Amino acid sequence: MYADVIVDISSGQLDKTYQYSIPERLASQAVVGAPVHIPFGKSWRKGYIVGLSEEAKIEVSRIRSIAAVEKEGKVIASQMIELAAFIRENFGATMNDALHTVLPVKRAVRPVEKKSIRLIADDTVLDDAISAASKRGYAAKERLLCELKEKKVLSWNTATKELNVSAATVRTLEKGKILEVITETGYRDPMAGLLKLSKGELAVEPHVLNEEQKAIRDRVVSDWSHGDYKTYLIHGVTGSGKTEVYLSIIEEVVRAGRQVIMLIPEIALTYQTVLRFYRRFGSRVSILNSKMSQGERYDQSLRAERGEIDIMIGPRSALFTPFQNLGLLILDEEHEASYKSEMPPKYHAREVAIARAGLCNASVLLGSATPSVIAYNKAAEGEYVLFELNRRAVTGAKLPKVSVVDLRQELAFGNRSIFSGELSEKIRQRLAAKEQIMLFLNRRGYAGFVSCRSCGHVMKCPHCDISMTEHEGGLLVCHYCGERQKKPETCPSCGSKYIAAFGTGTQKIEELVRRSFPSARVLRMDADTTRKKESYEEILSAFSRKEADILVGTQMIVKGHDFPEVTLVGILAADLSLNAADYCAAERTFELLAQAAGRAGRGGKEGEVVIQTYQPEHYAIKTAAEQNYKGFFAREIVYRKALGYPPIIHVMALLILSAKDSAADSAAALLAAAAERFFSDNELLDVVMVGPVPAALSKANDLFRKMVYFKHGNYNVLVALKNFLEGYILYSEQFRNVNVQFDFNPMGGY
Ligand code: ADP
Ligand code: ZN
Ligand code: ZN
Repeated sequence: MYADVIVDISSGQLDKTYQYSIPERLASQAVVGAPVHIPFGKSWRKGYIVGLSEEAKIEVSRIRSIAAVEKEGKVIASQMIELAAFIRENFGATMNDALHTVLPVKRAVRPVEKKSIRLIADDTVLDDAISAASKRGYAAKERLLCELKEKKVLSWNTATKELNVSAATVRTLEKGKILEVITETGYRDPMAGLLKLSKGELAVEPHVLNEEQKAIRDRVVSDWSHGDYKTYLIHGVTGSGKTEVYLSIIEEVVRAGRQVIMLIPEIALTYQTVLRFYRRFGSRVSILNSKMSQGERYDQSLRAERGEIDIMIGPRSALFTPFQNLGLLILDEEHEASYKSEMPPKYHAREVAIARAGLCNASVLLGSATPSVIAYNKAAEGEYVLFELNRRAVTGAKLPKVSVVDLRQELAFGNRSIFSGELSEKIRQRLAAKEQIMLFLNRRGYAGFVSCRSCGHVMKCPHCDISMTEHEGGLLVCHYCGERQKKPETCPSCGSKYIAAFGTGTQKIEELVRRSFPSARVLRMDADTTRKKESYEEILSAFSRKEADILVGTQMIVKGHDFPEVTLVGILAADLSLNAADYCAAERTFELLAQAAGRAGRGGKEGEVVIQTYQPEHYAIKTAAEQNYKGFFAREIVYRKALGYPPIIHVMALLILSAKDSAADSAAALLAAAAERFFSDNELLDVVMVGPVPAALSKANDLFRKMVYFKHGNYNVLVALKNFLEGYILYSEQFRNVNVQFDFNPMGGY
C-alpha cells in the first residue's frame, strides 16, 4: 500500500504530493488526513496523507517509507483533509480541487502596514533644521518639520498626502536623525468598515425568548451538553425570531469554550446582521465575504486557528474556517441556492457542514422560513429534528395580508401598465401615510433583451448562447460573461431600424415608478447598482434611514433584511421564475414570493402584499400567498415523486465543456456509452440515463456545453458511477481538451 503525502499545506501547491510506502505496522493508522513523519531529502518533515493507492507511481526501489503516524489528538489540518476527501468522493472533483476548497491557502500575502513618522531630534536641532530648510527654499521639508514640531507624531498619509512631502524627503530626515519612520503590522480588520456605519448604537439587552424559542434553545443545548450531536431544522416564518434563537445557543457553545460557524448567504450579510452579533459577542466575532482579498481572508482563518475569535460569520466558504474545537455549525436561510458551489467540486454546504460536524463532534442547526424540499423531507422522515416557529416574535407584528391580482384580467380591462389598479392605489395610500414600499421584480434585467420588431432577430452575446440585456446609455450587456457592446442603430440581420428592448428590467421599473409617482423618493437595488464594494450597504442603510419611500429591486431586496417601516410589498410579475426549465422552478418561485411577502409588516404596523401574476391558479403562487409552506411541500413532493426528482430520486448531472462543438459531442457520447457498459457489468439496469443533449445554455464563454443526466434512488450508486467515469476520463485520450464536471442534485437548470 502506498500513500500520497503532501508536505507543505500552506504553499498553495496542493497537487504536489510525494509517494511513500506504508509499513505493515502502520497500515491501520495510515488513513487519509493522518499526519505523518517522513524522510525528505536529507532531513525529516511532517506531512499529511491525502490519498492511498495500490500502485507505485515511480520505481518501487526509489520509494521511501513513512516513519511514523502521529497519534495525539486530531489536528485541524487532518480534519480538513478528511473533509476534502469526503467532498471529492460525494460531489466529484480532483483531490487537488477539493484541497483547494477546504484549506486556507497563503499566497505571498503581506500583512497591512501602518506607517507613521515620529520626531526624535530635540528642539534646538529641529529649529536649526527648520531655518536651514527655509533659507534654501525647501518648502516641503519646512512644512513637515513645522508640523512635527507641533504634533510630534504624524501618520505617513498625513505627511505624504496632506502635506505633500515626498518619501525621499522623509528618508533624508530619517538619515539625519531628525525623525524616525515607524512601521506597525497588524491584521486587516474586516469589521472596521462595517461598524463605522453603526455610529455607536452598541450593547443592547438580548430579548427574553418566548415559549417557542425557549423550547428550541433548551432542547438543542441539552442534547449538545450531553454529547448528543444532531442536525436540527428550524422552520420558522419570517420574523419569528430564528436569529434570536441562534444567538442564545451560540452563547452556550462559546461559554463552554467551543467555536461556532454561522453561514448566511452573502446577500444577507449586512451590517444589520453583523451588528447584532457584534453587540452580543463583541470582537470575538469575525466575518468573511467574497469582497475581501485573499490576504484578508487568510488573516481571518489564521485568527480562527489561533483561537482569537469564537464565531465566524460568512457565506459558503466560511464552512472551512479552521477552528480547533468547533462545536456548532449554523446554516441560516438553508434553502438558498448559493449554498451550492457552482464550480467543481459542486458541493452543497448543508451536506459538508453535517460531514464536518461528524468529524469534530458538533451540532448542525438549519433555519429557514422556506426550507428546501430536500431538507424538509429529511426532517419529515426523522433524519433531522424539526422545530416550528409559527408566529412573529415582535408583539403585535402579524403576518401580512396578501392579495393576488390576475394580470390577464387587468389587460382585459385595458390596463397595460406594469401596476395593477389595486397596486397603484395601495402605493398611493402608503405614500400619503409616509410609510415605506418595496417593489420586487423576479429577475434582474429579465426580458430586457433587445430584438428586431421586423424580423425577430435577438441580439445575443457572441461568446454565449444568451440574449444580451439593454442597460443605461444604449449599452448591451451579457449577464453571463460580462461582454459589453453598443446597441446597434439598425438590425444586423435585416437592416430595420425598429430594434428595441422588450419588457421590463429593474431600471425600467424605476423609471416608471418615478413617472407614475413623481413625489416618491425611489431607490433601486440590483446587481448593477451594487457593483461597488460599499454601495450595497449604502442603499440598504439609506432605505432604513427612511431616505427613500420606495425600494425597487431584484432577489437582493427580499433576502433577510429587516425594515420595520415597510408596510407594502408589491411583487410585479410573480411567475417569471415559474417558467424556468428545471425541476426546482416551483420551489424557487414559492421561496421568492414567500420571502418577499415576509418583508412586509415586520415592525408594529400591519403589512400588506400584492402579488401580480398571470397564473393565479398555480399551487406555488396560491400557497405562497397563503404563507402556507406545508401546503406547498405536500403538493411539490407529489410532483417530485411522480416525475422522479430529488429528494425522492437522486440526479447526477454531467456537464461536458469544450471549445469545439464536435469534441464536446463525441466526449458526451463516449461517456454515455461507458456508463451503459458500467450498468450492464454491474447489473444496474434501473439507472435512468437522459441524454446526451445540448445544455439549455448551449454555449457560454466560448465553450460548448453538453449534458448527460443519470437518475437513481440510491445516491451511492451514482457515486460509484462517478468514480468509474472519473477513472475513464483520466485514462482516455479523448478527454484532453474537454472538461467534465459532475453535479449531484443540481439546484438550477443548465
Ligand atoms: P428571523 O431570524 O426568524 O427572521 P429575528 O430573530 O430576526 O427573526 O427576529 C425578528 C424580530 O423580532 C427582530 O426585530 C428581533 O429583534 C425580534 N425578536 C426576536 N425574538 C424576540 C423576543 N423573544 N421578544 C421580542 N422580540 C423578539
Ligand atoms: Zn431585423
Ligand atoms: Zn456572454
